[in-house]
Amino acid sequence: MSSLVGPDEDDPRGKPAVPEHVQDAIRTLIEWAGDDPTREGLLDTPARVARAWKEYCLGYNEDPAHHLARVFEEVGGYDEIVLLKDIPFQSHCEHHMAPIIGKAAIAYLPTDRVVGISKLARVLHGYARRLQVQERLTAEVAHCIQEHLNPRGVAVVIEASHACMTARGVRTPGVSMVTSQVMGTFRKDSKSREEVLKLMGY
Ligand SMILES: [Zn+2]
Repeated sequence: MSSLVGPDEDDPRGKPAVPEHVQDAIRTLIEWAGDDPTREGLLDTPARVARAWKEYCLGYNEDPAHHLARVFEEVGGYDEIVLLKDIPFQSHCEHHMAPIIGKAAIAYLPTDRVVGISKLARVLHGYARRLQVQERLTAEVAHCIQEHLNPRGVAVVIEASHACMTARGVRTPGVSMVTSQVMGTFRKDSKSREEVLKLMGY
């Protein structure tokens, strides 16, 4: 298998093989950027970059909704806001394939079921580990929760910085973008919306 990179000794699990044409594509990019892909320091870079991209995009291998399949119906009459905030995440913009790094706050108003709280973060990561635009990421997380937990309301706020804006283009480090998607009660009732945004810190 000369066209494939074998398992690496520094990874006990063994690293996945990277097809030669994928490595070639990355060599082409290195050349296009102005460097020499045959110099020593860059020899293993194409395989590393390829594996890194598989990891950045792990979300394509899953349906994030499956994290919401296991619910708890014994909620003891609790029907107020459930909020998970400051959830760090990383994604990549579909326009430049540049990092989007930020945090999310996800809230819902349960009816008769709740999920393990970590599942909300898993749903976020399932959608974030794809090529994204922040607006769609925000909407996808909200709709997934709405559809599978059937809560009275859902609110998702995402705040992130985009490397395509901070490291290139207008080069404005420190700028962050905020997007929100509110549904159900949070959309219809401004008091509920204010309450959830306040809990989120907005
Ligand atoms: Zn971009």
